[in-house]
Amino acid sequence: MKEIILAKYGEIILKGGNRSRFENILMSNIKNALRNVADTKLRLAQATVYVDVEDENKIDLVMERLAKVFGIVAIARAAVCEKDIEEIKATAKEYLKNDLTDGKRFKVEAKRSDKKFPFNSPEICREVGGYLDDEYPGIIVDVHNPDVTVKVEVRDYSAYVYAAQNKIQGQGGMPIGTGSKATLLLSGGIDSPVAGHMISKRGVEIDAVNFFSFPYTSERAKEKVIGLASIIAQYTSKINLYIVPFTEIQLQIRDKCPEEHMTLVMRRFMMRIAERLAMQHKSKALITGESVGQVASQTLAALDVTNSAVDMPILQPLIGMDKLEIINRAMEIGTYETSILPYEDCCTVFTPKHPTTNPKRENIEKSESKLDTEALIEAALMNIEKIEVYPQ
Ligand code: ATP
Ligand code: MG
Repeated sequence: MKEIILAKYGEIILKGGNRSRFENILMSNIKNALRNVADTKLRLAQATVYVDVEDENKIDLVMERLAKVFGIVAIARAAVCEKDIEEIKATAKEYLKNDLTDGKRFKVEAKRSDKKFPFNSPEICREVGGYLDDEYPGIIVDVHNPDVTVKVEVRDYSAYVYAAQNKIQGQGGMPIGTGSKATLLLSGGIDSPVAGHMISKRGVEIDAVNFFSFPYTSERAKEKVIGLASIIAQYTSKINLYIVPFTEIQLQIRDKCPEEHMTLVMRRFMMRIAERLAMQHKSKALITGESVGQVASQTLAALDVTNSAVDMPILQPLIGMDKLEIINRAMEIGTYETSILPYEDCCTVFTPKHPTTNPKRENIEKSESKLDTEALIEAALMNIEKIEVYPQ
């Protein structure tokens, strides 16, 4: 029996006049995501991308990849048949035989976008439902609480049959490339990868920047950040990761600033360097992974001090989330296991014992004035390592 994948997209439908631009970007993202996976033919009609997979054994793998493409809300594997009511019935019977087992409650839902088809939707439901009920005496019609919802869609060229419960959920969101670019401050922690995923899910392309304090942080800590970028890249395709040498800045901060200000001065350097890098690479915003009150440097007063170092908009998508919610999201997207690997981050090496929780901008600026900020930033920018990270 011929099968096809129906990938349904969501919010793009709301785009009115821009819809075809969004659709073209989605199609090209799907092509990229499947390029090295399987030979496929793609066609788009009625808010659905039809993915015809040449090698049937690869259908599951293709579905897995489609489940990581932003813009797609649901993915179904469906049987394809002629637009003929008898064919549809026979296909439903055969294709769903493992779903319609004795005792199962079921209903049929039909959609007819080809208005020339001689049965309207309620008639299709009655015809197919009645037939399945006769053919499988053990199943029970239940339109309110079905175990199995048999979907019949009569579309432009063919009819499609599947069980709704076999659909898998897509990411939702908007196709990458529809929302310009932002620069993610990517640490080795749990939060920032989730923040990056959330913003890229809205269609925004991502560059990543990591501040690295060799030899205080090890080569393995760098590998970990690359690993995290490569997991995010499963959703976004290639990510440019910029590794910024941060040791000299941290040593100077440690030597010249009061200990309780160290973290915030350091965070302000990160923001400034990320902003310069973002401007060089035509990013329009910075992304960080803070949530209010999580640690001393994430009180509202501390966030104000950190964020006031730059003019560029700062996106903080986790700002109102609890740690547990962030962890759950990290598990869903697949970054958690890598984030909890034990390698140190540059911040953990230089953490003060009693960081200030209610800082004032003037005081931090005064501490900062002991450093040659511009020269330190320039030197760091001169020695950036660029890594092109591909999906893992
Ligand atoms: P995460 O889990 O993302 O490390 P965190 O809860 O440890 O976050 P902080 O250490 O206060 O929080 O850092 C706040 C944000 O600053 C991070 O979410 C990240 O966006 C950025 N950041 C921190 N350290 C680095 C680093 N070494 N390189 C790049 N960005 C960093
Ligand atoms: Mg951290």
